[in-house]
Amino acid sequence: MLKAIWDNIKGLYSLLVGLSITGRYLVSPRKTIHYPRQVVDDEILASFRGPLELTRGRKEPGQTRCISCQMCVRACPGHCLTVIKGDAKAPSRWIYDFSLCCLCGACVEACPAGALAFSHKVYLVATSREELKLDLLADLKARTEKEAPPKNE
Ligand code: SF4
Ligand code: SF4
Repeated sequence: MLKAIWDNIKGLYSLLVGLSITGRYLVSPRKTIHYPRQVVDDEILASFRGPLELTRGRKEPGQTRCISCQMCVRACPGHCLTVIKGDAKAPSRWIYDFSLCCLCGACVEACPAGALAFSHKVYLVATSREELKLDLLADLKARTEKEAPPKNE
């Protein structure tokens, strides 16, 4: 009899401890966001290391600074990068396999032209590895077009 009462007291105590922890977290400030209804502030994302992107040309923002030297390709431990030289120094293809990338930054450091940088893209999703093979020249073109001022009619 006494044992049953003691077990009930212990069970009740355990329940109260659990409820107090739940209550504490219920009223404390939230550390997560309700994506996609909310998104992370740009200020916080500024320090986020996302997939690589090509930086804009100094004179022509739509052009890459890449000179197809292959230093990044050689520096990459994950074999993520394929740079194919075009007619001039500029590349004709620039493919980045994000599925293999460990975001180590060796390519960014190795680049003598400052042509590579980490993006702050936090919402990139894919359903296959193939979708993570990114065409960085196409990405640069799309970013430039998106940010270009509207043409006067
Ligand atoms: S960050 Fe590292 S793993 Fe990713 S592409 Fe650059 S060198 Fe390769
Ligand atoms: S190291 Fe820089 S300039 Fe050379 S191929 Fe890579 S991105 Fe282009």
